[in-house]
Formats: sequence, structure tokens, C-alpha cells
Amino acid sequence: MDAPLTLAGWLPQARSITVLSGAGISTDSGIPDFRGPQGVWTRDPAAEAMSTIGSYLADPDVRRRAWRARLDQAALRAEPNAGHAALAELERGGRLRALITQNVDGLHQAAGSGPDTVIEIHGTAREAECLSCGLRTPMQDVLARVEAGEEDPPCAECGGVQKSATISFGQALRQDVLDAAIIAARTCDLFLAVGTSLTVQPAAGLCLEAVDHGARLVVLNAQETPYDDVADAVLRGPIGETLPRLAGLVLGTGS
Ligand SMILES: [Zn+2]
Repeated sequence: MDAPLTLAGWLPQARSITVLSGAGISTDSGIPDFRGPQGVWTRDPAAEAMSTIGSYLADPDVRRRAWRARLDQAALRAEPNAGHAALAELERGGRLRALITQNVDGLHQAAGSGPDTVIEIHGTAREAECLSCGLRTPMQDVLARVEAGEEDPPCAECGGVQKSATISFGQALRQDVLDAAIIAARTCDLFLAVGTSLTVQPAAGLCLEAVDHGARLVVLNAQETPYDDVADAVLRGPIGETLPRLAGLVLGTGS
């Protein structure tokens, strides 16, 4: 793969990078891609019910199954990989300013990306949220109650239904988070989309926001995306190998 060689001329000039990451960056950490052809939902319709806000609120059975599933959740045991580490390195080097992610696994922060740098447009599975009063609680604390026998632990503050602090189907994205993502896309000089099919809004539209405001666009994804044609460079290599090489080129530390 010599595509990065053709990037070598202009990548080092990037001073203000915004990254958009999707499920593809976390598959090396053992977290399944829910939407892909091998996705969890494709194989298990019950898993999709747990991710739909209407059935979650209406059916205590769905909630009990969801809490059992969260106990088993690979995301909470997963470790960040070389791709996550490369992005944290870019931030330490002063080049990466915003990291928008569609992932809810918290692995960017675990790899060392700053809490103020990461913009989680689909929320986080590392916290539980009360659907009545909005109280946030560390997920591990609520899961400890499940392990202790509470099958559907209510909010400690108001008794309301709790859920992981992720955006379920049927739930609106948070406008303040979305605004932050749009500003990050509009104000960067390089927009790097990693491991995302760019088929889900609003993530996909962020690419155009960046390009319309003068940024270069680099797409790194195993499959084709609808934005390959407008990208300045398209890379198909494994993310865990390609991303560290890209970071090395930007920082002038790579070969
Ligand atoms: Zn509450």
C-alpha cells in the first residue's frame, strides 16, 4: 500500500485535524459492528428491540434482557487498539483538535484522547441515564446492582427507568453535541473519516460540512463510502496499521 506516500506532501501541513470515527476502528478491540453484514442486529432481532426506545420503555422484559446483555457487554472489557492510540498521539502532538465518534465504547478516552476532545454523537455505554430526571451514573455502579439481584434497577434519585446513556432508535440526538460536531467539521483543515460507512446521518453530512468549508477529506474504511469521490485520498488498508502510519506522516515521525 503506497497511498500514504502520495499523501506525504500535504499531510504534514495539517494543523487542525477533526476525526470522525465509526465502528470499524473498534472491531480490532473485539467490539462487533452492529450494522454490518455480520452485525449483531442482523443475527438477533431481540437485540434490536433492546435498542429501540419504545419497546425498552414499554416492556419490562426487554429491560431485564438489556441489563443482562450490558453485564456481558464486550465494550466494558475491551481495550483500545493501535488505531485509538494513533489518534491520541495526534492530539498530544497538537494536530488533532476534535474527535467525533459514532462509537459508544469509550475506547478513545481509554487510549488517552481528552474528554473535551471526544464528541460522542451517539452517547456512551460507560454511563447509565435516567429517562425521567436525566441523572447520570457510572455504568459499573448500576451493573453492580444488577449483579446483586436487581433485574431492572430504577433511578436512585427519582425511581425512573434507567438505560445506558446511548442514543437508541427513536431517540433524538443531543443538539448541543451535534452543534459541537458541526463546528469541529467546519473549522478544521483536514477531516479524517475512519472506520465509518458514512451512510448514517448526521455523521455522513459532517464530511460535506468540512469540504464545503475548505478542508481536505481523507477516508479510511474497508468498504466503499458515498464520499470516496469527493475525498482527497481514500485508503482501504487495515485501520490498526494504516492509522499509525498516517499519524506518523502528520507528525513527521513516520517512515
Ligand atoms: Zn431519575
